[in-house]
Amino acid sequence: MTLPVNIHDEIESLDSQEQAATVKLLLHYIEPISIDEGCLAVLNRFIENEALFTAAIVDNSNAPVGLMDRGRITEIFVKPFAREFHHRKLIGDIMDTNPVIIDIHTSIDDLAKIIIDSGMRHMVNGFIIVQNGVYASMATGHALLEEITQRKQRELYFLAHYDQLTGLPNRLLFKDRLLQSCQNTNRTAKTFALIFVDLDRFKFINDTMGHSFGDLLLINFAHKLTACVRKNDTVARLGGDEFVIILQNLHGSEDAQKVTASIIEHIRQPMLIYNREIRMTASLGIALYPQHDQTTEGLIRKADAAMYEVKQQGRNNYLIYSDAFDQGMAERMCMETQLRTALDNHELSLFYQPQIHLASNKVIGVEALLRWHSPELGLVSPAKFIPVAEETGLIIAIGEWVLREACRQHSLWLQQGLPPLRIAINISAIQFRQKEFCAFIKGVIDDTGIDPQYLELELTENLVMTNTKHTVETLIELRALGIKLAIDDFGTGYSSLSYLRNFPIDRIKIDQSFIRNIKTIPANQAIVRAIISMGDNLGLEMIAEGVETLADLECIKSHHCQEVQGFHFSKPVPANEFEHWYQQFGKI
Ligand code: C2E
Ligand code: MG
Ligand code: MG
Repeated sequence: MTLPVNIHDEIESLDSQEQAATVKLLLHYIEPISIDEGCLAVLNRFIENEALFTAAIVDNSNAPVGLMDRGRITEIFVKPFAREFHHRKLIGDIMDTNPVIIDIHTSIDDLAKIIIDSGMRHMVNGFIIVQNGVYASMATGHALLEEITQRKQRELYFLAHYDQLTGLPNRLLFKDRLLQSCQNTNRTAKTFALIFVDLDRFKFINDTMGHSFGDLLLINFAHKLTACVRKNDTVARLGGDEFVIILQNLHGSEDAQKVTASIIEHIRQPMLIYNREIRMTASLGIALYPQHDQTTEGLIRKADAAMYEVKQQGRNNYLIYSDAFDQGMAERMCMETQLRTALDNHELSLFYQPQIHLASNKVIGVEALLRWHSPELGLVSPAKFIPVAEETGLIIAIGEWVLREACRQHSLWLQQGLPPLRIAINISAIQFRQKEFCAFIKGVIDDTGIDPQYLELELTENLVMTNTKHTVETLIELRALGIKLAIDDFGTGYSSLSYLRNFPIDRIKIDQSFIRNIKTIPANQAIVRAIISMGDNLGLEMIAEGVETLADLECIKSHHCQEVQGFHFSKPVPANEFEHWYQQFGKI
């Protein structure tokens, strides 16, 4: 089915129309009958005018006082001698004295309710409409039904073709518009662009700031996109934070790039949501018709592939489709499929990296780091597959496995005679936002019997920064379990540090980007010194990540950081290798 092009405008005005819908839409003027008109004269009116079904009876001031319908008057006069009996009577003597009288400003919804409450007879006979108490017109139940049906149809059309949150066309209408664009463009020498738009890190915002915040953000974003394009272009929402734009009537790819660059610029401008200034970025992928594909499905796939490539290259940009992108798409699909079975097929394992306490020169803990040995893809880095696990929700099951496996390993080491080491586990924001997160952690502690003081959860700065009630409550509840909390990759997230004072945090892990080659980069030394003095003031413990060389280590020592972790001591290794390493170097 091809939809009329102007339907968008029609739907846009639908809301205001619906609000204004009153009985005015149903008016059907019929000359009223005066209350002192004779019965026979009125009977003649009905006989002469076959279309006349019901008429209002009005008094001298034109106010309605009754109703007469064809059925009633013919029924009276069809009886033998009725004419002789009634001919002197006035219409006021035999009229229906209980008509339904409606003010002209009544809404259709209210009218429907009144008519239904007063009985079906009025639906059939019709009702009288007044303005300022004076007869204005008649209206019929038939017209009312028709109006209601049409309205329902419009509503159904809207529900089926528009996204309820943003009011933008949905996937169905988008596909129709796309098809139309192909057909229209075939008739010209022009081109059109299909642009896939994906908000960067929306899932994170949605999970951390709450869904009503996320909804408002999407509505704002939809407005932004719509403001960037012309009236006959299309902006649609496919679902979640996935939007598409069809830019019509372009001369070539430069046109598309110009518009896309301005969209990106527009998106970067801050938005005010619940009085908070939010800055978002987006990744956009462009496919051109007919250059890149001549089918709607192909265009969609290629714009999506271009967008995915932008994400891979670091987001916040746009790219025009190129054949080389297909490879990246295929890899992602493959990774997703493979990851779904990775847990069941025992392809995941944990590696451990020691953490050293500098003053005592002893191993004080280990960080558990996830590894995936995929038979198809080989060894996949967590930096690559954790985002996929987060997008697909698989992180919940994987995260549970990590926690249980690390606790199991901890108790195994104790049995083997190793001293109790602190074991640090990385927690994704998606896991942390689960309602039952604390109960889950408590469950694992109970099941595995780990002494909670040796369990440390690593949370990211961004996650903790979202100072919502839920975050604070969860942190307090976790702390009450007796476990330790660390902030991972410290220094790479938000710059506001005030939260450290309010939150029950034990340790800061200074991000490795400040530590590596620290000796030769004075700015990094200054940052590390500032972090350490701030941490000291707040009574926090600190660990420097990414200590690769002796020079790094010496520099860190001079800044009085308590603990270190990095390749200089050991790379993350499997449990048994860690045991060997520990026997050799751990007890130095
Ligand atoms: P992270 O938690 O910051 O972990 C430290 C990363 O730095 C690890 O990378 C580790 O191998 C690497 N690293 C340690 N010392 C050095 C060093 O001296 N030099 C250099 N260049 N790198 C060093 P890995 O294992 O590839 O993990 C990457 C990230 O993946 C982790 O960063 C963490 O955010 C995430 N991740 C790993 N395991 C898990 C997990 O079980 N759950 C979750 N949610 N995320 C995980
Ligand atoms: Mg970590
Ligand atoms: Mg880290």
